[in-house]
Amino acid sequence: MPADCLFCRIIAGEIPSTKVDEDDTVLAIRDVNPQAPTHILLMPKAHITSAQDLGKTDGALLGNIFAMSADLADREGIASTGYRVVTNVGRDGGQSVDHLHFHLLGGRRFAWPPG
Ligand code: AMP
Repeated sequence: MPADCLFCRIIAGEIPSTKVDEDDTVLAIRDVNPQAPTHILLMPKAHITSAQDLGKTDGALLGNIFAMSADLADREGIASTGYRVVTNVGRDGGQSVDHLHFHLLGGRRFAWPPG
């Protein structure tokens, strides 16, 4: 793991976080600066820099992430009203932490297209 990776350090327990779920491959935590009533980050426990680094062999990992996201949406009470799952890639995509993560956002109406 890169020593300076914030999310690797959270996964390792070196930095505190509010965990909402995990399995062998995925950790889900509350975003420290929530942009909606529900704002959860789902991240692989293994370091992957962004979605640009995903390949065909990552299908099982992505299935785990989206299954956990759907379960969390149920638990948060936003599955029926709808929600957004998004991953930002690189600077123009708005990525500020270079460890792949998916934002699960819900509890309010979102605009499209995004800003
Ligand atoms: P992104 O800008 O797509 O890379 O998303 C990074 C997210 O990580 C932002 O929504 C931040 O609010 C969030 N974040 C940064 N530091 C922490 C932290 N220590 N614990 C939880 N979330 C964090």
